[in-house]
Amino acid sequence: MSDFKLGHEYALEQDRNDPLSTYRKQFYIPKDKDGNEVIYMTGNSLGLQPKQTKTYVNQELKDWANLGVEGHFEAKNPWLKYHEFLTENMAKVVGAKPIETVVMNTLTANLHFLMVSFYQPTKTRYKILIESDAFPSDKYAVESQLRHHDFDDKEGLVLWKPRKGEELLHYEDLETILKTQGEDVALIMIGGVNYYTGQFFDLKRITELGHQYGCMVGFDCAHGAGNVQLNLHESGADFAAWCTYKYLNAGPGSLAGCFVHERHAHRKDLNRFTGWWSHNKETRFLMRGEFDQLPGAEGWQLSNPPILSMAAIKASLDIFSEVGMEALTEKSKKLTGYFEYLLKNLGEDVIKIITPENPEERGCQLSIQVKRADKSLYEKLTQAGVISDWREPDVIRCAPVPLYNSFEDVYWLVEKLKPILTFPKGRN
Ligand SMILES: *Cc1c(COP(=O)(O)O)cnc(C)c1O
Repeated sequence: MSDFKLGHEYALEQDRNDPLSTYRKQFYIPKDKDGNEVIYMTGNSLGLQPKQTKTYVNQELKDWANLGVEGHFEAKNPWLKYHEFLTENMAKVVGAKPIETVVMNTLTANLHFLMVSFYQPTKTRYKILIESDAFPSDKYAVESQLRHHDFDDKEGLVLWKPRKGEELLHYEDLETILKTQGEDVALIMIGGVNYYTGQFFDLKRITELGHQYGCMVGFDCAHGAGNVQLNLHESGADFAAWCTYKYLNAGPGSLAGCFVHERHAHRKDLNRFTGWWSHNKETRFLMRGEFDQLPGAEGWQLSNPPILSMAAIKASLDIFSEVGMEALTEKSKKLTGYFEYLLKNLGEDVIKIITPENPEERGCQLSIQVKRADKSLYEKLTQAGVISDWREPDVIRCAPVPLYNSFEDVYWLVEKLKPILTFPKGRN
Protein backbone atom coordinates (compact mmCIF):
# COMPACT_ATOMS: atom_id res chain seq x y z
CA MET A 1 0.00 0.00 0.00
CA SER A 2 2.73 2.39 0.97
CA ASP A 3 4.41 1.59 -2.35
CA PHE A 4 2.10 4.03 -4.12
CA LYS A 5 3.22 7.56 -4.86
CA LEU A 6 1.49 10.87 -5.49
CA GLY A 7 1.82 12.83 -8.73
CA HIS A 8 0.87 12.47 -12.37
CA GLU A 9 4.18 10.99 -13.44
CA TYR A 10 3.66 8.00 -11.14
CA ALA A 11 0.27 7.24 -12.72
CA LEU A 12 1.79 7.37 -16.21
CA GLU A 13 4.56 5.04 -15.14
CA GLN A 14 2.06 2.54 -13.73
CA ASP A 15 0.18 2.56 -17.02
CA ARG A 16 3.41 2.00 -18.93
CA ASN A 17 4.23 -1.00 -16.73
CA ASP A 18 0.70 -2.43 -16.84
CA PRO A 19 0.57 -5.61 -18.96
CA LEU A 20 -3.20 -5.11 -19.48
CA SER A 21 -3.00 -1.44 -20.53
CA THR A 22 -3.49 -2.32 -24.21
CA TYR A 23 -7.03 -3.62 -23.58
CA ARG A 24 -8.35 -0.08 -23.12
CA LYS A 25 -7.97 0.38 -26.90
CA GLN A 26 -10.37 -2.52 -27.44
CA PHE A 27 -13.25 -0.54 -25.90
CA TYR A 28 -15.21 2.53 -26.92
CA ILE A 29 -14.66 5.19 -24.25
CA PRO A 30 -17.59 7.66 -24.16
CA LYS A 31 -16.75 11.31 -24.92
CA ASP A 32 -18.04 14.61 -23.54
CA LYS A 33 -19.54 17.44 -25.63
CA ASP A 34 -16.07 18.71 -26.54
CA GLY A 35 -15.00 15.30 -27.79
CA ASN A 36 -12.76 14.47 -24.83
CA GLU A 37 -12.87 10.99 -23.34
CA VAL A 38 -14.75 11.00 -20.05
CA ILE A 39 -13.38 9.39 -16.91
CA TYR A 40 -15.75 6.44 -16.82
CA MET A 41 -16.19 5.03 -13.30
CA THR A 42 -19.53 3.25 -13.74
CA GLY A 43 -18.52 -0.08 -15.21
CA ASN A 44 -20.33 -1.50 -12.15
CA SER A 45 -23.56 -0.20 -13.65
CA LEU A 46 -23.07 -0.53 -17.39
CA GLY A 47 -19.80 -1.87 -18.77
CA LEU A 48 -18.34 -0.27 -21.89
CA GLN A 49 -18.72 -1.68 -25.36
CA PRO A 50 -15.88 -3.80 -26.73
CA LYS A 51 -15.09 -2.73 -30.29
CA GLN A 52 -15.35 -6.34 -31.46
CA THR A 53 -18.97 -6.66 -30.31
CA LYS A 54 -20.18 -5.16 -33.58
CA THR A 55 -18.38 -7.84 -35.59
CA TYR A 56 -19.91 -10.64 -33.52
CA VAL A 57 -23.45 -9.23 -33.75
CA ASN A 58 -23.06 -8.46 -37.45
CA GLN A 59 -22.08 -12.07 -38.11
CA GLU A 60 -25.46 -13.22 -36.77
CA LEU A 61 -27.36 -10.51 -38.63
CA LYS A 62 -25.61 -11.59 -41.81
CA ASP A 63 -26.34 -15.28 -41.26
CA TRP A 64 -29.97 -14.47 -40.49
CA ALA A 65 -30.20 -12.40 -43.71
CA ASN A 66 -28.57 -15.10 -45.83
CA LEU A 67 -29.88 -18.26 -44.22
CA GLY A 68 -33.18 -17.54 -42.55
CA VAL A 69 -34.29 -20.49 -40.48
CA GLU A 70 -31.39 -22.61 -41.75
CA GLY A 71 -29.17 -20.47 -39.55
CA HIS A 72 -30.17 -22.69 -36.64
CA PHE A 73 -27.90 -25.33 -38.19
CA GLU A 74 -25.93 -23.60 -40.96
CA ALA A 75 -24.85 -20.31 -39.36
CA LYS A 76 -21.13 -19.92 -38.76
CA ASN A 77 -22.05 -20.33 -35.09
CA PRO A 78 -25.18 -22.49 -35.33
CA TRP A 79 -27.93 -20.85 -33.26
CA LEU A 80 -29.34 -24.09 -31.99
CA LYS A 81 -26.41 -24.53 -29.65
CA TYR A 82 -25.26 -20.93 -29.48
CA HIS A 83 -25.48 -20.80 -25.67
CA GLU A 84 -22.98 -23.64 -25.52
CA PHE A 85 -20.34 -21.37 -27.07
CA LEU A 86 -20.58 -19.22 -23.95
CA THR A 87 -20.64 -21.89 -21.27
CA GLU A 88 -16.98 -22.71 -20.83
CA ASN A 89 -15.74 -19.12 -20.76
CA MET A 90 -18.55 -18.02 -18.49
CA ALA A 91 -17.83 -20.93 -16.16
CA LYS A 92 -14.20 -19.79 -15.95
CA VAL A 93 -15.19 -16.22 -15.13
CA VAL A 94 -17.25 -17.32 -12.10
CA GLY A 95 -15.14 -20.32 -11.09
CA ALA A 96 -17.73 -22.96 -11.91
CA LYS A 97 -17.83 -26.19 -13.92
CA PRO A 98 -19.47 -26.07 -17.34
CA ILE A 99 -22.27 -28.36 -16.17
CA GLU A 100 -23.05 -25.81 -13.45
CA THR A 101 -23.26 -22.85 -15.81
CA VAL A 102 -25.71 -21.50 -18.34
CA VAL A 103 -26.54 -18.14 -19.91
CA MET A 104 -30.29 -17.50 -20.03
CA ASN A 105 -33.05 -14.98 -19.30
CA THR A 106 -32.38 -11.85 -17.30
CA LEU A 107 -31.10 -11.63 -13.75
CA THR A 108 -34.24 -11.11 -11.67
CA ALA A 109 -36.07 -13.66 -13.83
CA ASN A 110 -33.32 -16.18 -13.09
CA LEU A 111 -33.55 -15.51 -9.36
CA HIS A 112 -37.25 -16.33 -9.51
CA PHE A 113 -36.77 -19.49 -11.57
CA LEU A 114 -34.05 -20.64 -9.21
CA MET A 115 -36.22 -19.94 -6.20
CA VAL A 116 -38.91 -22.13 -7.73
CA SER A 117 -36.40 -24.93 -7.15
CA PHE A 118 -34.45 -23.76 -4.11
CA TYR A 119 -37.07 -21.96 -2.09
CA GLN A 120 -39.36 -24.76 -1.00
CA PRO A 121 -40.92 -23.48 2.20
CA THR A 122 -42.73 -25.64 4.73
CA LYS A 123 -45.05 -24.51 7.53
CA THR A 124 -42.16 -24.31 9.96
CA ARG A 125 -39.23 -23.48 7.70
CA TYR A 126 -40.19 -20.71 5.34
CA LYS A 127 -38.16 -17.57 6.04
CA ILE A 128 -35.76 -15.95 3.59
CA LEU A 129 -32.62 -14.26 4.87
CA ILE A 130 -31.08 -11.40 2.87
CA GLU A 131 -28.67 -8.56 3.65
CA SER A 132 -30.55 -5.48 4.89
CA ASP A 133 -29.11 -3.36 2.10
CA ALA A 134 -29.85 -5.85 -0.66
CA PHE A 135 -30.35 -4.53 -4.19
CA PRO A 136 -34.02 -3.46 -4.46
CA SER A 137 -34.86 -5.93 -7.22
CA ASP A 138 -33.62 -8.82 -5.08
CA LYS A 139 -35.62 -7.62 -2.09
CA TYR A 140 -38.78 -7.26 -4.18
CA ALA A 141 -38.19 -10.69 -5.68
CA VAL A 142 -37.89 -12.50 -2.35
CA GLU A 143 -40.84 -10.59 -0.87
CA SER A 144 -43.00 -11.66 -3.79
CA GLN A 145 -41.83 -15.26 -3.37
CA LEU A 146 -42.97 -15.14 0.26
CA ARG A 147 -46.36 -13.78 -0.80
CA HIS A 148 -46.58 -16.32 -3.59
CA HIS A 149 -46.34 -19.07 -0.97
CA ASP A 150 -48.91 -17.29 1.27
CA PHE A 151 -46.45 -16.03 3.83
CA ASP A 152 -46.21 -12.53 5.21
CA ASP A 153 -43.52 -10.64 3.33
CA LYS A 154 -42.36 -8.79 6.45
CA GLU A 155 -42.53 -11.51 9.05
CA GLY A 156 -40.96 -13.97 6.64
CA LEU A 157 -38.00 -11.77 5.77
CA VAL A 158 -34.92 -11.96 8.00
CA LEU A 159 -32.42 -9.14 7.60
CA TRP A 160 -28.68 -9.38 8.17
CA LYS A 161 -27.95 -5.83 9.29
CA PRO A 162 -24.84 -3.79 9.91
CA ARG A 163 -24.17 -2.77 13.49
CA LYS A 164 -25.24 0.66 14.65
CA GLY A 165 -23.19 3.40 12.99
CA GLU A 166 -21.52 0.89 10.63
CA GLU A 167 -22.02 -0.03 6.99
CA LEU A 168 -20.35 -3.43 6.60
CA LEU A 169 -21.74 -6.76 7.71
CA HIS A 170 -20.15 -9.08 10.28
CA TYR A 171 -20.25 -12.86 9.91
CA GLU A 172 -20.62 -13.20 13.68
CA ASP A 173 -23.96 -11.42 13.39
CA LEU A 174 -25.10 -13.85 10.71
CA GLU A 175 -24.12 -16.70 13.04
CA THR A 176 -26.16 -15.14 15.83
CA ILE A 177 -29.22 -14.84 13.60
CA LEU A 178 -28.91 -18.45 12.50
CA LYS A 179 -28.38 -19.68 16.05
CA THR A 180 -31.76 -18.28 17.02
CA GLN A 181 -33.72 -18.57 13.76
CA GLY A 182 -31.71 -20.98 11.62
CA GLU A 183 -34.41 -23.66 11.76
CA ASP A 184 -36.97 -21.20 10.37
CA VAL A 185 -34.87 -20.09 7.42
CA ALA A 186 -35.49 -21.94 4.16
CA LEU A 187 -33.27 -19.78 1.99
CA ILE A 188 -30.32 -17.46 2.39
CA MET A 189 -29.85 -15.20 -0.62
CA ILE A 190 -27.05 -12.64 -0.47
CA GLY A 191 -25.49 -10.29 -3.01
CA GLY A 192 -21.99 -11.81 -3.51
CA VAL A 193 -20.55 -8.29 -3.69
CA ASN A 194 -22.89 -5.76 -2.11
CA TYR A 195 -23.84 -3.16 -4.70
CA TYR A 196 -23.76 -0.29 -2.20
CA THR A 197 -20.75 -0.91 0.03
CA GLY A 198 -18.70 -3.01 -2.37
CA GLN A 199 -18.21 -5.63 0.39
CA PHE A 200 -17.22 -8.95 -1.19
CA PHE A 201 -18.58 -11.69 1.04
CA ASP A 202 -16.92 -14.97 1.85
CA LEU A 203 -19.33 -17.11 -0.15
CA LYS A 204 -17.94 -20.35 1.19
CA ARG A 205 -18.24 -19.26 4.80
CA ILE A 206 -21.84 -18.11 4.33
CA THR A 207 -22.72 -21.31 2.46
CA GLU A 208 -21.19 -23.59 5.09
CA LEU A 209 -22.94 -21.69 7.83
CA GLY A 210 -26.29 -21.83 6.03
CA HIS A 211 -25.96 -25.53 5.24
CA GLN A 212 -25.10 -26.26 8.84
CA TYR A 213 -28.60 -25.03 9.71
CA GLY A 214 -30.24 -26.81 6.80
CA CYS A 215 -30.86 -23.68 4.70
CA MET A 216 -30.49 -23.42 0.92
CA VAL A 217 -27.91 -20.81 -0.04
CA GLY A 218 -27.84 -18.71 -3.20
CA PHE A 219 -25.99 -15.60 -4.33
CA ASP A 220 -26.76 -12.73 -6.63
CA CYS A 221 -23.40 -12.10 -8.23
CA ALA A 222 -24.31 -9.10 -10.39
CA HIS A 223 -21.51 -7.07 -8.82
CA GLY A 224 -19.12 -9.99 -8.58
CA ALA A 225 -19.05 -11.58 -12.02
CA GLY A 226 -16.08 -10.28 -13.99
CA ASN A 227 -15.00 -8.24 -10.97
CA VAL A 228 -13.74 -10.72 -8.36
CA GLN A 229 -12.87 -14.41 -8.25
CA LEU A 230 -16.14 -15.95 -7.10
CA ASN A 231 -15.08 -19.62 -7.09
CA LEU A 232 -18.72 -20.61 -7.13
CA HIS A 233 -18.11 -24.33 -7.32
CA GLU A 234 -15.71 -24.24 -4.40
CA SER A 235 -18.09 -22.12 -2.36
CA GLY A 236 -20.60 -24.97 -2.38
CA ALA A 237 -23.49 -22.54 -2.93
CA ASP A 238 -26.68 -24.15 -4.21
CA PHE A 239 -27.28 -21.55 -6.91
CA ALA A 240 -26.24 -18.13 -8.18
CA ALA A 241 -27.26 -15.67 -10.88
CA TRP A 242 -25.66 -12.56 -12.33
CA CYS A 243 -26.18 -10.11 -15.15
CA THR A 244 -23.77 -9.55 -18.03
CA TYR A 245 -24.17 -5.81 -18.61
CA LYS A 246 -22.13 -4.64 -15.58
CA TYR A 247 -18.56 -5.91 -15.37
CA LEU A 248 -19.17 -8.33 -18.21
CA ASN A 249 -19.64 -5.60 -20.83
CA ALA A 250 -22.31 -7.37 -22.87
CA GLY A 251 -24.61 -4.38 -23.36
CA PRO A 252 -27.73 -2.90 -21.76
CA GLY A 253 -30.24 -5.51 -20.59
CA SER A 254 -28.18 -8.36 -21.99
CA LEU A 255 -28.87 -11.93 -20.87
CA ALA A 256 -27.86 -13.21 -17.48
CA GLY A 257 -25.77 -16.05 -16.10
CA CYS A 258 -26.94 -18.85 -13.90
CA PHE A 259 -25.13 -21.36 -11.68
CA VAL A 260 -26.56 -24.50 -10.15
CA HIS A 261 -24.16 -26.58 -8.10
CA GLU A 262 -23.13 -29.91 -9.59
CA ARG A 263 -24.71 -31.85 -6.72
CA HIS A 264 -28.12 -30.79 -8.06
CA ALA A 265 -27.24 -31.51 -11.71
CA HIS A 266 -29.14 -34.78 -12.04
CA ARG A 267 -31.91 -34.23 -9.53
CA LYS A 268 -35.34 -34.82 -10.94
CA ASP A 269 -37.09 -34.35 -7.63
CA LEU A 270 -36.49 -30.60 -7.56
CA ASN A 271 -39.53 -28.60 -8.47
CA ARG A 272 -38.91 -26.36 -11.45
CA PHE A 273 -40.53 -24.42 -14.23
CA THR A 274 -39.67 -25.91 -17.57
CA GLY A 275 -39.91 -25.27 -21.29
CA TRP A 276 -38.68 -26.97 -24.43
CA TRP A 277 -35.14 -25.73 -23.77
CA SER A 278 -35.01 -27.68 -20.51
CA HIS A 279 -35.74 -30.83 -22.48
CA ASN A 280 -33.21 -33.36 -23.78
CA LYS A 281 -31.45 -31.84 -26.83
CA GLU A 282 -31.47 -35.12 -28.76
CA THR A 283 -35.23 -35.41 -28.81
CA ARG A 284 -36.28 -31.77 -28.42
CA PHE A 285 -37.44 -31.43 -31.99
CA LEU A 286 -39.45 -34.61 -32.09
CA MET A 287 -41.89 -32.41 -30.19
CA ARG A 288 -43.68 -35.45 -28.87
CA GLY A 289 -43.58 -37.59 -25.83
CA GLU A 290 -42.77 -37.18 -22.20
CA PHE A 291 -40.64 -34.41 -20.80
CA ASP A 292 -37.02 -35.50 -20.50
CA GLN A 293 -34.99 -33.29 -18.18
CA LEU A 294 -31.60 -31.96 -19.35
CA PRO A 295 -28.94 -32.44 -16.66
CA GLY A 296 -27.08 -29.50 -15.12
CA ALA A 297 -27.80 -25.78 -15.19
CA GLU A 298 -29.03 -26.10 -18.79
CA GLY A 299 -32.02 -27.95 -17.42
CA TRP A 300 -33.32 -24.63 -16.02
CA GLN A 301 -33.58 -23.01 -19.47
CA LEU A 302 -37.03 -22.41 -20.89
CA SER A 303 -36.83 -20.75 -24.28
CA ASN A 304 -34.66 -20.61 -27.33
CA PRO A 305 -32.47 -17.60 -26.50
CA PRO A 306 -31.93 -14.24 -28.26
CA ILE A 307 -28.85 -14.81 -30.41
CA LEU A 308 -28.00 -11.12 -30.90
CA SER A 309 -27.60 -10.66 -27.14
CA MET A 310 -25.60 -13.86 -26.91
CA ALA A 311 -23.30 -12.65 -29.68
CA ALA A 312 -22.47 -9.59 -27.56
CA ILE A 313 -21.80 -11.84 -24.57
CA LYS A 314 -19.54 -14.03 -26.67
CA ALA A 315 -17.56 -10.98 -27.85
CA SER A 316 -16.99 -9.97 -24.24
CA LEU A 317 -16.23 -13.43 -22.88
CA ASP A 318 -13.58 -13.94 -25.54
CA ILE A 319 -11.74 -10.96 -24.04
CA PHE A 320 -12.15 -12.32 -20.50
CA SER A 321 -10.90 -15.69 -21.62
CA GLU A 322 -7.80 -14.13 -23.18
CA VAL A 323 -6.98 -12.05 -20.10
CA GLY A 324 -8.04 -14.51 -17.38
CA MET A 325 -9.57 -13.57 -14.04
CA GLU A 326 -6.23 -14.01 -12.29
CA ALA A 327 -4.41 -11.30 -14.24
CA LEU A 328 -7.51 -9.14 -14.17
CA THR A 329 -7.94 -9.24 -10.40
CA GLU A 330 -4.22 -8.73 -9.91
CA LYS A 331 -4.40 -5.44 -11.80
CA SER A 332 -7.69 -4.59 -10.15
CA LYS A 333 -6.18 -4.83 -6.68
CA LYS A 334 -3.36 -2.48 -7.69
CA LEU A 335 -5.64 0.00 -9.41
CA THR A 336 -8.16 0.16 -6.56
CA GLY A 337 -5.35 0.19 -3.99
CA TYR A 338 -3.90 3.22 -5.77
CA PHE A 339 -7.33 4.86 -5.81
CA GLU A 340 -7.71 4.24 -2.07
CA TYR A 341 -4.24 5.66 -1.42
CA LEU A 342 -5.03 8.89 -3.31
CA LEU A 343 -8.38 9.26 -1.54
CA LYS A 344 -6.87 8.72 1.90
CA ASN A 345 -4.36 11.40 1.08
CA LEU A 346 -7.25 13.87 0.86
CA GLY A 347 -7.80 13.42 4.57
CA GLU A 348 -10.20 11.51 6.77
CA ASP A 349 -11.92 14.78 7.69
CA VAL A 350 -13.36 15.10 4.17
CA ILE A 351 -14.03 11.56 3.03
CA LYS A 352 -14.64 8.14 4.48
CA ILE A 353 -14.33 4.98 2.40
CA ILE A 354 -17.14 2.59 3.27
CA THR A 355 -15.79 -0.34 1.23
CA PRO A 356 -13.61 -2.84 3.15
CA GLU A 357 -9.89 -2.03 3.30
CA ASN A 358 -8.87 -5.65 2.84
CA PRO A 359 -8.35 -6.22 -0.93
CA GLU A 360 -9.71 -9.77 -0.48
CA GLU A 361 -13.01 -8.39 0.76
CA ARG A 362 -13.76 -6.09 -2.13
CA GLY A 363 -13.65 -5.80 -5.90
CA CYS A 364 -12.71 -2.70 -7.85
CA GLN A 365 -15.47 -0.44 -6.52
CA LEU A 366 -14.93 2.04 -3.73
CA SER A 367 -17.97 3.63 -2.08
CA ILE A 368 -16.94 7.00 -0.76
CA GLN A 369 -18.86 8.89 1.84
CA VAL A 370 -18.18 12.59 1.36
CA LYS A 371 -18.55 14.72 4.44
CA ARG A 372 -20.71 17.86 4.18
CA ALA A 373 -21.70 16.86 0.62
CA ASP A 374 -24.97 16.81 -1.26
CA LYS A 375 -25.89 15.84 -4.78
CA SER A 376 -24.33 19.04 -6.18
CA LEU A 377 -20.94 17.40 -5.63
CA TYR A 378 -21.87 14.62 -7.98
CA GLU A 379 -23.20 17.12 -10.53
CA LYS A 380 -19.96 19.12 -10.41
CA LEU A 381 -18.01 15.94 -10.86
CA THR A 382 -20.09 15.10 -13.93
CA GLN A 383 -19.44 18.58 -15.33
CA ALA A 384 -15.74 17.96 -14.81
CA GLY A 385 -15.98 14.90 -17.06
CA VAL A 386 -16.24 12.14 -14.45
CA ILE A 387 -19.04 9.60 -14.79
CA SER A 388 -19.71 8.27 -11.30
CA ASP A 389 -22.73 7.16 -9.33
CA TRP A 390 -24.48 8.99 -6.50
CA ARG A 391 -26.37 7.33 -3.66
CA GLU A 392 -28.33 9.48 -1.22
CA PRO A 393 -27.49 10.96 1.15
CA ASP A 394 -23.75 11.38 0.63
CA VAL A 395 -22.07 8.46 -1.13
CA ILE A 396 -20.38 8.31 -4.51
CA ARG A 397 -19.53 4.96 -5.95
CA CYS A 398 -16.59 4.71 -8.34
CA ALA A 399 -15.43 1.53 -10.00
CA PRO A 400 -12.09 1.66 -11.82
CA VAL A 401 -12.46 -1.34 -14.11
CA PRO A 402 -9.14 -3.08 -14.78
CA LEU A 403 -10.00 -3.95 -18.40
CA TYR A 404 -10.35 -0.36 -19.59
CA ASN A 405 -9.62 2.09 -16.79
CA SER A 406 -6.08 3.37 -16.37
CA PHE A 407 -4.05 4.60 -13.44
CA GLU A 408 -4.24 7.98 -15.14
CA ASP A 409 -8.06 7.83 -15.03
CA VAL A 410 -7.86 7.29 -11.29
CA TYR A 411 -5.32 10.09 -10.91
CA TRP A 412 -7.53 12.58 -12.77
CA LEU A 413 -10.65 11.45 -10.95
CA VAL A 414 -9.10 12.36 -7.62
CA GLU A 415 -7.61 15.60 -9.01
CA LYS A 416 -11.06 16.63 -10.21
CA LEU A 417 -12.64 15.67 -6.91
CA LYS A 418 -10.25 17.85 -4.88
CA PRO A 419 -11.46 21.35 -5.80
CA ILE A 420 -15.14 20.47 -5.25
CA LEU A 421 -14.77 18.98 -1.78
CA THR A 422 -15.66 21.13 1.20
CA PHE A 423 -12.69 21.13 3.52
CA PRO A 424 -13.23 22.02 7.17
CA LYS A 425 -12.32 25.58 8.16
CA GLY A 426 -8.63 25.98 8.69
CA ARG A 427 -7.76 23.59 5.86
CA ASN A 428 -7.52 24.77 2.27
C1 LIG B 1 -27.95 -4.88 -11.31
C2 LIG B 1 -28.60 -5.74 -10.35
C3 LIG B 1 -29.89 -6.25 -10.58
C4 LIG B 1 -30.66 -5.91 -11.81
O1 LIG B 1 -31.55 -6.90 -12.15
P1 LIG B 1 -32.09 -7.08 -13.65
O2 LIG B 1 -33.02 -8.20 -13.54
O3 LIG B 1 -30.91 -7.34 -14.52
O4 LIG B 1 -32.76 -5.79 -14.06
C5 LIG B 1 -30.42 -7.11 -9.63
N1 LIG B 1 -29.73 -7.42 -8.50
C6 LIG B 1 -28.49 -6.94 -8.25
C7 LIG B 1 -27.77 -7.32 -7.00
C8 LIG B 1 -27.90 -6.07 -9.15
O5 LIG B 1 -26.69 -5.59 -8.90
